[in-house]
Amino acid sequence: MPYAELAYTILSAFAPEIPSDDLAKLVLETYHAARYPYARESVRAARVAPLTWLEPGRFGILELSNGPTLAFKDMAMQLLGALFEYVLTQRDTYLNILGATSGDTGSAAEHAMRGRARIRVFMLSPAGRMSPFQRAQMYSLQDENIHNIAIRGAFDDAQDVVKALGADQAFKSQYRLGAVNSINCARIAAQVVYYFAGYFQAVGRVGDPMSFAVPSGNFGNILAGHIARMMGLPIAQLILATNENNVLDEFFRTGVYRPRRSDETFVTSSPSMDISKASNFERFVFDLVGRDSQALTTLWRQLAEKGAFDLKTTPYWATIGRFGFVSGANSHEGRVATIRSIWKRYRVLIDPHTADGVRVAQQVADSRYPVVVLETAQPAKFADTIQEAVGFAPPRPAPFEGIEAAPQRVTELPADAQAVRRYIEAHALRGRD
Ligand SMILES: *Cc1c(COP(=O)(O)O)cnc(C)c1O
Repeated sequence: MPYAELAYTILSAFAPEIPSDDLAKLVLETYHAARYPYARESVRAARVAPLTWLEPGRFGILELSNGPTLAFKDMAMQLLGALFEYVLTQRDTYLNILGATSGDTGSAAEHAMRGRARIRVFMLSPAGRMSPFQRAQMYSLQDENIHNIAIRGAFDDAQDVVKALGADQAFKSQYRLGAVNSINCARIAAQVVYYFAGYFQAVGRVGDPMSFAVPSGNFGNILAGHIARMMGLPIAQLILATNENNVLDEFFRTGVYRPRRSDETFVTSSPSMDISKASNFERFVFDLVGRDSQALTTLWRQLAEKGAFDLKTTPYWATIGRFGFVSGANSHEGRVATIRSIWKRYRVLIDPHTADGVRVAQQVADSRYPVVVLETAQPAKFADTIQEAVGFAPPRPAPFEGIEAAPQRVTELPADAQAVRRYIEAHALRGRD
């Protein structure tokens, strides 16, 4: 099946309220190969999520970062943009999206929402703290409905402004404020498709088990793998890879879940995984405790009171094996060494996040099964680390040449909720009344 047809088949199960002709149209527009033009040269015919084998039949990478911002978040975000527009048109209404980004999520969201008449985006980013390439990806968008706000402060300051405004119910409903963050269920559902697409390319007919390795941060992507497995896809292992921020690896090794504060979170060379409190993790634990919401509430109360919980001594831990998770953590040295060795051996360049997945898979995968690593970004986005690893800068797809020099649209504001509120009041979409 082409990716769009597969996506339609799977998403139908999650969206029974959308008439099937409408869903088919949305999915066909979203997962059109022409929208994912930046595949490796080795892929002759354009495909949405091609598999590249490193060791044929044994070890491969699933290319998910060939969309407009060169990161896998595009694939789910593009669907979300189409779904928003569809529902807003049906209901004849509009939405103002407010978010904060440290780089990748914001640009994927803006590229998914640009030009959509019923949607306006207010995206906060930390002034001067993103790479010139990341800034250009966001700030060079000239679409009227995209508003970039550079906050004088760190990412957390921008995030605090978003939380403060989101907590003001009156403001939120008056301006119809929405979000596109990683707990969004439509994003999760869209990601379930990756695993089926990877499986069918790697194995063929449903039957033999295989494993997936997933560079993880907010636990969204790998949660989708868990859901695919619960749906019956024969996944042997779900290999969770973290960077130095190893909260999730610690959990799967020890049974202790201990999120860290943002000032305890390391800045690493796989920055999109610099997360110490995984917003989707609760959803897996819900399954682990047998979908007992009372038990889940008790654990999260313990988390709030003590900052951690330990499942090692509970009956749940004895059953965790049935979910197929294994894990590992990578470091800067491991990342650089992996990028270098994959380049030397296969002449394939991978990004630092994908390298975390490859490294951990090499360490913990059960060798009886083929392994596919989900490629979460392209090397072109992380030139410094690639340069360090292989001694040359990663090539950029042609449309990204020199984007740093394109004119930029951005408004700088202090890290102050009132200032941002006034900006939104002046620029938000409003109803006719
Ligand atoms: C978001 C992101 C991740 C982590 O994905 P989660 O769904 O948050 O676990 C990994 N790599 C890259 C490049 C990302 O942008």
